[in-house]
Amino acid sequence: MRIDSLLVKDPHDNRSTPPHILPIYATSSFSFESIEQAIHMFSNIESGHTYSRYANPTVDSVAQKIAQLESYGLDMEATAVMTSSGMSAISTLLMGLLKSGDKVLTQGNLYGGTTELLKGLFSQFGIETVFTSLADPSVVETLLKNDPAIKLVYLETPANPTLACVDIEAISTAAHRHNVWVAIDNTFCTPLLQQPFAFGADFIVHSTTKYLNGHGNSIAGVVLGRDRDLMRSRVWRAMKLAGTNCSPFEAWLTGNGMKTLALRMRQHSENALELAQWLEKHPSVARVNYPGLSSHPDHELAKKQMRQFGGMMSFELKGGFDAGLACMKKIQFCSFAPTLGDVDTLILHPASSSHLHVARDVREANGITDGLIRVSVGIEDVRDIIADLEQAMG
Ligand SMILES: *Cc1c(COP(=O)(O)O)cnc(C)c1O
Repeated sequence: MRIDSLLVKDPHDNRSTPPHILPIYATSSFSFESIEQAIHMFSNIESGHTYSRYANPTVDSVAQKIAQLESYGLDMEATAVMTSSGMSAISTLLMGLLKSGDKVLTQGNLYGGTTELLKGLFSQFGIETVFTSLADPSVVETLLKNDPAIKLVYLETPANPTLACVDIEAISTAAHRHNVWVAIDNTFCTPLLQQPFAFGADFIVHSTTKYLNGHGNSIAGVVLGRDRDLMRSRVWRAMKLAGTNCSPFEAWLTGNGMKTLALRMRQHSENALELAQWLEKHPSVARVNYPGLSSHPDHELAKKQMRQFGGMMSFELKGGFDAGLACMKKIQFCSFAPTLGDVDTLILHPASSSHLHVARDVREANGITDGLIRVSVGIEDVRDIIADLEQAMG
């Protein structure tokens, strides 16, 4: 071999023993051992890795672990496909399941990006969305009975900003009576706190960017389904053709973060409950929204479908917009960032930031009142979080 050719060749793999930790397979393709193997793989006789948009060993390993978590202890085996973000998990699922003329039934208080995706993008392809409250399953039942174009009920529980919950089991029962699929965004809970497959959901999506990774250093998502064939023929196919595949590096970071998920979720939940109880007694606070509080309207439902109540909460300052702004100006310890689910506490005053340019009536219809503060409670010593809010609200 000439020196210029030597440069082009990949170096010899010097691995003598298997790696202890999952490696990052930074390769776009995989080489065939023989022409027979290539023929078998292209004829689907033999399965294996060919091209990383189709499948990659690092991504597959992490996806498989999330599938094991979502079906843990259940009489089923979930299939998972990782994607490039939470948004691409949602769009891949919708592209795989729906066609022009189909409709989605969902709630008004979804993650903002999801509402925009449905209203602004899928509508361009003839897929319409019906927004309603999913609080009453009989309303859902009536809507499904009267509109056979609805093919999917899409839900989020608990949902921002008031942490209102939806009864997954009741909605799934109603949907299945009409042969309609149920998909749920389980980002806030992770499989440790809530397993939607146990209550009848057909599909689950996560923004793994949030709690599953937990360390705020990757963007990725995952779609899970209970039906392996449907996952292969619809979801995996949509991922492969739309090219919404997850990068092996992002999957690797997610897999790394997930190792401490149990410890983190326990601490997030403990801290959030303690903070919520402290805020409930504070004279400047009008209302605290946390499903773990017995004062929360959906506390009983949350107890039925969640194991712990998680790290997301919000509260309403009596002093309205000015009080919200004043509080944010004084915050020192908590971080001011537009994400959630990281190990550190993140605080947001939507009326003066993410929703500044949204008309007040539109914002209030979605529960985003002037004095509302949203907190993604971290895993720090809770006394530091409380002390920061105490000085900021004082
Ligand atoms: C962040 C988030 C998304 C979108 O996820 P990305 O990873 O940012 O694309 C979807 N749903 C919920 C509930 C989220 O919090």
